[in-house]
Amino acid sequence: MTETLEDLRKRIDKIDLELLELLNKRGEIVEEIGKIKEAQGTNHYDPVREQELLEVVKKNNQGPFSTPALQHLFKQIFKASLDLQKVETKKVLLVSREKQSEDTIVDVRGEKIGDGQTHFVMGPCSVESYEQVREVALAMKEQGLKLLRGGAFKPRTSPYDFQGLGVEGLKILRRVADELDMAVVSEITHPGNIEVALDYVDIIQIGARNMQNFELLKAAGQVERPVWLKRGLSATIEEFIYAAEYIVSNGNDQLILCERGIRTYEKATRNTLDISSVPILKKETHLPVAVDVTHSTGRRDLLLPAAKAAIAIGADVVMAEVHPDPATALSDSAQQMDIPQFKSFMEGVQPLLRMNQQAA
Ligand code: PEP
Ligand code: MN
Repeated sequence: MTETLEDLRKRIDKIDLELLELLNKRGEIVEEIGKIKEAQGTNHYDPVREQELLEVVKKNNQGPFSTPALQHLFKQIFKASLDLQKVETKKVLLVSREKQSEDTIVDVRGEKIGDGQTHFVMGPCSVESYEQVREVALAMKEQGLKLLRGGAFKPRTSPYDFQGLGVEGLKILRRVADELDMAVVSEITHPGNIEVALDYVDIIQIGARNMQNFELLKAAGQVERPVWLKRGLSATIEEFIYAAEYIVSNGNDQLILCERGIRTYEKATRNTLDISSVPILKKETHLPVAVDVTHSTGRRDLLLPAAKAAIAIGADVVMAEVHPDPATALSDSAQQMDIPQFKSFMEGVQPLLRMNQQAA
């Protein structure tokens, strides 16, 4: 006599219960294996063994299920088993909040970046002359600013554009900074120049185009000098964090991250300022975070609103370029501020700075 639907279902229910019990029995053994692997320090995930088990399925399968269908089911079981072992597949990074809950403070000649107050890095795009740098530095000094930037090694898109004054440029920055008791931030583009930079700069900048120049990151990680790491033009936040990890894992924990805009389809600005990267980086890492309003917007009229947004969202540093005569600047003439514009920019951010101080 043929079985009724109800009979068949009853048999299925029984088998399902047996499967359930077997799966959990398997799970218990998986947990035991997990403990042994933990003690031995071996990898939880073992692709060779998984492949062997899938072969066993293939060899012994007599249907009616197809082998790929069964292998798919077993892969799910393997995946759930790995989850059961609570495998830390993601290594806890040195730059992560998980590793260090308190904020890193980078002390640059008394300027404590990451202390909860807003700091400013200002100066010309490129160092062009002693007089040019000094004029900007004096205007900064008047505003009580200390962190003087300037490009000596310029990573230009076109090889025919001004490439910077090189070491001569670093010397100019150092001279002006020493005269006015300021600190120098300048980009280094080659691992071989890290040593020479130590004689002249207080913060080694690694530019957007070099964010994944791993030899440069390693070289900067091996010296005792704060590093200013800019986000790559098309780098995800995760890639940016890994680049930071290269520096810290090489021994240098004096690091500042700088959001400088990323490449998107939007053409109204030079790059798209990814403002939400600031709280994300503050949450995911313990490092100070800066916003470069000049290279992100590429527009002088957007510098102040972008800076306000940066301060409001929690940036530790705002960076912008200032030139005595932007029209004649050898690089980035469209977005540098002249001195009067710089002064009104600083006035414009005051209400936000006051708000920050009150909150502290
Ligand atoms: C700079 O800050 O001088 C610079 C070249 O910026 P970026 O590397 O972000 O383009
Ligand atoms: Mn520039």
